[in-house]
Amino acid sequence: MAISSPPAVRRPPLPAIPLVIAEERCKGCEICVAACPKDALALDLRRVNVLGYHPVTLVDAAACTSCAFCARVCPDAVFTVWTASHEERPR
Ligand code: SF4
Ligand code: SF4
Repeated sequence: MAISSPPAVRRPPLPAIPLVIAEERCKGCEICVAACPKDALALDLRRVNVLGYHPVTLVDAAACTSCAFCARVCPDAVFTVWTASHEERPR
């Protein structure tokens, strides 16, 4: 009797953006702005969120490397960072 290999696990497709910002929780402290090594974040001074702060926004999505430094330093868990799996990364 032949042993068959397990079915390949299909991962859901990655979102087009590298991170999601729950801006309603942002307090505008700019810790993430200082932590981003790519200068990809800034406060959006044109908008005010429900807490009364200018929320952070991703100003350069192409520069973002999904390093997640922003998510690690944010005290309010504002970021969800997406990254490609090892198999999905360009070689
Ligand atoms: S994941 Fe890294 S590069 Fe992207 S915005 Fe956050 S700190 Fe910057
Ligand atoms: S560290 Fe968090 S709370 Fe502070 S500006 Fe960045 S996203 Fe907003």
